[in-house]
Amino acid sequence: MTDDAAAAPICRARPLPGPDDAPVGCAAARGVDGRPMHAAALRFFWGPMDCGKSTMALQMNHNHARQGRRGLVTTRIDRSLGPQVTTRIGLAHAAIEVTDDLDLRDLVRDAWAEGVRVDYLICDEASFYNLEHVEQMAELVDGYDVDVYAFGLATDFRSCLFPAARRLFELADSVARIQVEVLCWCGREGLLNARVVGGRVVREGEQVVIGDTVDSTDVRYQVLCRRHYRSGDLGPRA
Ligand SMILES: [Zn+2]
Repeated sequence: MTDDAAAAPICRARPLPGPDDAPVGCAAARGVDGRPMHAAALRFFWGPMDCGKSTMALQMNHNHARQGRRGLVTTRIDRSLGPQVTTRIGLAHAAIEVTDDLDLRDLVRDAWAEGVRVDYLICDEASFYNLEHVEQMAELVDGYDVDVYAFGLATDFRSCLFPAARRLFELADSVARIQVEVLCWCGREGLLNARVVGGRVVREGEQVVIGDTVDSTDVRYQVLCRRHYRSGDLGPRA
């Protein structure tokens, strides 16, 4: 017999706030603006680099805005190194840079205080956010009736989950792998993000090192299938 309790995964994140911690009066306040309360949701869309996450984030923002909804776009460490979401196919959109001390709830509350409605948040590069930000996302959904759509990588260059991504997998109402396939040089589906320094795959170092950006030349990332990630083979054109 196995011990089920011992076998259960251990969650090291702090527990979610209970009902007593929920913001008071938000639901009622939201009701009088004419918009019916709806079942807001936290959705996490993930995939390897180059699979079009930021493109999908901006497309989702466009689709919601076209229906008269108002949202905020946030990002962290965009490839442009500026406060905007940019995509590899040329789209760009102004965005709020998420810093360690930024509280996503304050972002929404401040907008509301200025009379700006916020129906949803688009959180790009969410795997670079910290764990508190993910808790704030959940609270925005549960206590403020704000939809949160998060986009990001699942795993880092070591093929291990980013902490924020792991927490999103744990908490999100839905999790979806982005279905645009990125191919490894061999033609297999790309799955993992290899960090390449000096033409070689590296497996140790800081979790976040910016590469493939406007001013970076010595660090780059390459999406590989699991087989070639494991062997470190970057292909004939590397
Ligand atoms: Zn391959």
